[in-house]
This record gives sequence, structure tokens and C-alpha cells, in this order.
Amino acid sequence: MTTTSSTTAPTEAAATNASVSESDRSSVFHSWSAQGSLAPLPLAGGLGSTVWDVDGREYLDFSSQLVNVNIGHQHPKVVAAIQEQAARLTTVAPAHANETRAEAAHLILERAPEGFSKVFFTNGGADANENAIRMARLFTGRDKVISHYRSYHGNTGGAIVATGDWRRMPNEYATGHVHAFGPYLYRSEFWAESPEQEAERALHHLERVVQAEGAQTIAAILLETIPGTAGILVPPPGYLAGVREIADRYGILLILDEVMAGFARTGEWFAFDAFGVRPDLITFAKGVNSGYVPVGGVVISDPVSHHFDERVFPGGLTYSGHPLAAASIVAALTAMEEEGVVSNAKRIGSEVLAPALAALSRHDIVGEVRGTGVFWAVELVSDREARTPLDAATMGRFKTDLLSRGLLPFISENRIHVVPPAVVTDEEARRGVAIIDEALAAL
Ligand code: PLP
Repeated sequence: MTTTSSTTAPTEAAATNASVSESDRSSVFHSWSAQGSLAPLPLAGGLGSTVWDVDGREYLDFSSQLVNVNIGHQHPKVVAAIQEQAARLTTVAPAHANETRAEAAHLILERAPEGFSKVFFTNGGADANENAIRMARLFTGRDKVISHYRSYHGNTGGAIVATGDWRRMPNEYATGHVHAFGPYLYRSEFWAESPEQEAERALHHLERVVQAEGAQTIAAILLETIPGTAGILVPPPGYLAGVREIADRYGILLILDEVMAGFARTGEWFAFDAFGVRPDLITFAKGVNSGYVPVGGVVISDPVSHHFDERVFPGGLTYSGHPLAAASIVAALTAMEEEGVVSNAKRIGSEVLAPALAALSRHDIVGEVRGTGVFWAVELVSDREARTPLDAATMGRFKTDLLSRGLLPFISENRIHVVPPAVVTDEEARRGVAIIDEALAAL
């Protein structure tokens, strides 16, 4: 299968996978990588749920890049909105009013629960969490933030110490940050045997951590509604409601990080909509405009917002509410509404992905399948009984095999995360899972 992109610039005509890879390796310092062993896939273009490399080979994008291209690649209305805005006004300082920025904020607030009436824009997800933490500290006059081991909140100064994933253990430099174990029944820290036990014991543990640290020192509990990078750990019934109760009991703010889970990923506008829980601050990025222009932000509940009515919020970013980002948010949210993207994710999740992924359990190597919407993890094990995670070398071979079969996967530790765009069609979803099935059989 080959594709030629009409958007390819003339100077790229002579480029090949090899030449682009080499040029990249020689000049670009990559995230989360040992720089000496890089093998980046050179991507040249994309459309919907498909991307293609410089040599023209197509891949079904089951990664949504970094789980952000919820509306699919190159949505024509979003691309046009960015182009139109660029022709009109490409930058505007945050202190000025801007019609497109206000419209973007209104569209986000329309999707938030009652009692939220302000949006603070950032450049991405990490600085959204940084600023939410800052607001919580200023609001409560307290310092500490409790987050989960097995979480990812971004890679800036505060967000990375709030993060509790394996890449930054042990829990170093975490001044002002405390971690607690969240629910994860498959590898329970609480010897739980049912979702109810897991929720109850994780809540007991969290409350004991609050008490041990001293509630009067804790500004916020910061959680991903559904921890994503750490394994798509859908919380058991009652857990998030229980966290809300603990937060209320001790005067602590609840920040829900919706950076990965928000804006259609779980088949809801916000993932917490399915759990009946209302946070005090919501952080977002990724799916809000599918990453077409870098953007993130904090949706602020009224009490926190009003706290700053007569007090200065001592923070801001040059590109807060950048017009190209704002235009892309307006176009993306409008198109998602018109095209039923959120309900598509929900339907694909329950009608196509849930049964197709459950059937993968016929492979002994599959330990657990979990998820919702277009947000699934398949955990691979070398021993089903002992739940031994499949080793890194075998996961590496699995990834190479999936690419050779035309699927761009999201692999994290011993898991494949099945995270296609929320616009994925039934046929694409079935085809992608069939490729994973074949690669598992080959393993
Ligand atoms: N929070 C969550 C839940 C994320 O998944 C991520 C990124 O993957 C971030 C925050 C950080 O976002 P960014 O990379 O835009 O800073």
C-alpha cells in the first residue's frame, strides 16, 4: 500500500525514511529516550485514523500519536480554521481580549459541570497541572499535593514530581508532593479480591495518608480520572466518589487531570461524567483540539475563581490562549459536536472494541483487558497464573511486528494500549484488533 500526500512540500520529494531518520537522529534530542539507540519512525502525513511514512507506507494509527488525535488526522475544518486565524491574527498577548479565545473558553465551559465559569489557558497538559496546583495552594493556603503512584501528570518541575510512574521512581525531589496507591485490582496493593474491596481499601489507605501527613498541610488531591499512561486503570465503582468525600471532609481541593481522558477518549466529554463526580479544578489538553496546536488549560470552579476576584493570580504564560490554539479548539469542538465524535467513541468501545479485545484472552499471553470508549489496555504476561509482566525485549519484538503488519501501536511497559482516534470506523477498529490478534499469535 502506498500513498502520496498532496501536502508534501517539493523539497521533500527526494526524502526517504532513511534520510529523514538520519537527519532527525543527528539533530533532535528525543523525549524519554537514550539518545544513542533511537529508531524514530519518520511520519510524513496522515488522514483520519491513518498515517504514512516518508516512503509512503501506511499505518493504522492505534496510538493517536500521544493519545491526543481524538478527531483524527488533518480534519479539514480544523486545518481551515487554523489557516484562517493565521491569516487574520497569529499572536495576541494574554492581557488583551480576543474573540476566538473567549469562544474557545465558552465552548469548554458548556461541556463542564455546573459551577465552572472560567478557563485558564496553558501551552499543554503539564503546565495545566502546574497552574492548577498553584491555584489550589493559593486558595487553601496549604502546600502538599497527594497524587497516585502509577500516574502521569507531565514533565515540568511540579508536574513531574506529582507523577508517580515507573520512569521516575524512586520518589525523588518530591518536596511538597506525597503519593498514595490507587486502585488496580489486577495487581492489587491491598490483597483485594473484588472491585468493591479494592475501592474500599484504597480509600482507607488514602484517608490514612491524609491523616498521617496532616490534613491541614494538604492543598489538593490530584488524580487522573482514569490513569492513562500508567495502564488505563479504570477506577472501581465508588472510588472517585469516595475520594471526593475525603477531600470534602478535610477541606482539600480535588483536581481531576483530564489531559488524556477528556474530550471523547472515554466516550464522554469529561471522563468523570461517567462516575458522577465533580472536581474543583479540571486540567485538560490533548483531545480539546487533538493536538493540532499545542494547548492545555485549567477549568476553574466558581469558589476558586472568585478567590482571585480581588487578589492577583500571580501567574501567566506568553502563549496563554494563543489565537491559533483557540481557533483550533473552536473548530475541533464544533466538529466533534456536529459529527457525534463523543458518541462514536462510546459506541465503538462497547460494540466493537470490548468484544473484540475480550476475545484476545484466548492467547495465554493476555493477562487482562480493561478500558472504555477508545481507551483500552491489554496487559501481556509470560505466566498467567503469576501475572508476570512480559519482558521488554519481547514487547520490543511485538511492537516491530505490529508495525510491519501496518499498525502503529502505543506500547507501555508490558501493555499495548488500544487508543485509536475517537473517529475510528467499525472497519478500522476491527482491522486493528485483527492485526493485534495475528501478532499475538505470532508471538
Ligand atoms: N496529564 C496526563 C494525564 C497526561 O497523559 C499527560 C501527557 O501525556 C500530561 C498530563 C502532560 O501533558 P503535556 O505532555 O501536554 O505536557
